[in-house]
Parts: sequence; structure tokens; C-alpha cells
Amino acid sequence: MKYALVTGGSRGIGAAVCKEIAKMGYPVIINYVNREDAATAVKNEIEAEGGKAETLKFNVADSVETESALGGWMKSHPEDYIAVLVNNAGVRKDNLMMWMEDSDWYDVLNIHLNGFYRVTKMLVTPMAAKKWGRIVNMASLSGVRGMQGQTNYSAAKGGIIAATKALALEVAKRKVTVNAVAPGFVETDMTKELNEDELKKTVPAGRFGKPQEVADLVAFLVSDKAAYITGQVIEINGGLNT
Ligand code: NAP
Repeated sequence: MKYALVTGGSRGIGAAVCKEIAKMGYPVIINYVNREDAATAVKNEIEAEGGKAETLKFNVADSVETESALGGWMKSHPEDYIAVLVNNAGVRKDNLMMWMEDSDWYDVLNIHLNGFYRVTKMLVTPMAAKKWGRIVNMASLSGVRGMQGQTNYSAAKGGIIAATKALALEVAKRKVTVNAVAPGFVETDMTKELNEDELKKTVPAGRFGKPQEVADLVAFLVSDKAAYITGQVIEINGGLNT
């Protein structure tokens, strides 16, 4: 059976993606690092709608933990494989570079970029072997154009965009697509401390996006209809791209 894994599936965009992919019929593995309560709530919601889901705790920045959790899952599911991977887990640790703590630089790079590497490396081989897979990487407007106060985050997201394009070339013949989604401002816990009233004036659409809107885009990229789309960065930002 084909499964889907969403890293950081317990909250925000990831939670909406889990629910949407479950509606497509995939059993969903909801990864989280701290908020077991939130991950369980997503699982319960999916099951209440007739879908299948399980939670899996691991810190994507910790290679030993990630390998142990995903390796354990693979061992206990010899007949199955994770055919859909959404690399979504993330944090923000913003500061101007001149005031940035070294740990904030490394933490953000480790979670976003090294997390993408560790999880994807483990799962892309079975996808290629089975000759079908979908990888969607959550990038950001910040990685497309750079944003002040986010050199760490922009570097991580820019790295993910470049890696998306490179990996797409490597696995296209195996019917594995690799794309990035680059949201602008989306209403989640990650943006709740921002001044939404001020910032939404900078968005041509005049509002922040909803997690569901990003989830709908991810679901399309995961679907069979998107088989010929690979190596792309799809921006979803209400027009905030210049
Ligand atoms: P969010 O609401 O803060 O949720 C973050 C999710 O990531 C949570 O599920 C959290 O798990 C998980 N997570 C954080 N660190 C992790 C780690 N080390 N290992 C595993 N899971 C981890 O964030 P969001 O706004 O939905 O963001 C989701 C993705 O979209 C991120 O990659 C973010 O950079 C990107 N993005 C967001 C926006 C936006 O405006 N919101 C814009 C562009 C891009 P716990 O619940 O266990 O803490």
C-alpha cells in the first residue's frame, strides 16, 4: 500500500495537508516533534472523516532519531512504502544577521535543509524502485526573493528550492516528481506574532493565505494529474512576488 508522510503535520499548513491527502485515500503518517496533542487531534479528525492516519514523532533535524523512526516504520511495513512525502516541518528564528545567534543560524538550516535531506534520502530510494513517487517541499517567498531579518530562513528555503530542481532531474525517469511550494504569508502559529493588519497591506490580494489554500495546491501536485510537473517552484502568495 502507498502511504503519505507529512513532516510537521501536527499544526498549520502541515495539518491541512494531512487532511487533504487523507481525503485522496492515502493513509497519512503525521510527523511532529513536540505537540503530540495536536498530532493526535489531526489523526482523530482524519479518522472521523473515514480516513486512515497514524502519528510518528521525530525531530527532522536529528539524523539518528529520524533514521530510527522511519527505519522502524519501514521494518514494520514490509509490504508498503511511503509514496508521497511532503517536507513541511519548519520554524522561524528571525534576526538581522549582525545580531543573529550562531545557534539560530544552524537550527534553522538543520531543521529545514538538513531535515529535507535526511528524510528525502531515506524515502526517495523506495519511490524510485517502485517507479512512482511524489515529493513536495515547503519553501517560502523568503527563499525565492530573500527577506530582511531572515538570512537563515532565506538560505534554508533557497537551498531547498535548488535541491528540488536538482533532485527532480535525478528521478524524473522513475516517475517520481519533486516540486516546491513557496507560500507568502499564511495564517498559522508561525505568523501569529506578525502584525497582520500592517503586512496584509503589502499583499495585492489584501489578506494572508489560509493553510487550506496551500493544502489544495499540494494535493494537486501529489495527484496523478500533476505527473508532468516536476522541478518547479509554485508560488502561492496573493500576488506578493515582486
Ligand atoms: P507552524 O504552524 O508553526 O507548524 C510547524 C510544524 O512543524 C509543526 O507541526 C511542528 O511540530 C513542526 N516542526 C517544527 N520543527 C520540527 C522538527 N524539528 N521536526 C519535526 N517537526 C517539526 O508552521 P506553518 O506556518 O504551518 O509552516 C509550515 C511550513 O510552511 C514551514 O516549512 C514554513 O517554513 C513554511 N512556510 C510558512 C509560511 C507561513 O506564512 N505560515 C510561509 C511560507 C512558508 P510540533 O507541532 O510538534 O511543534
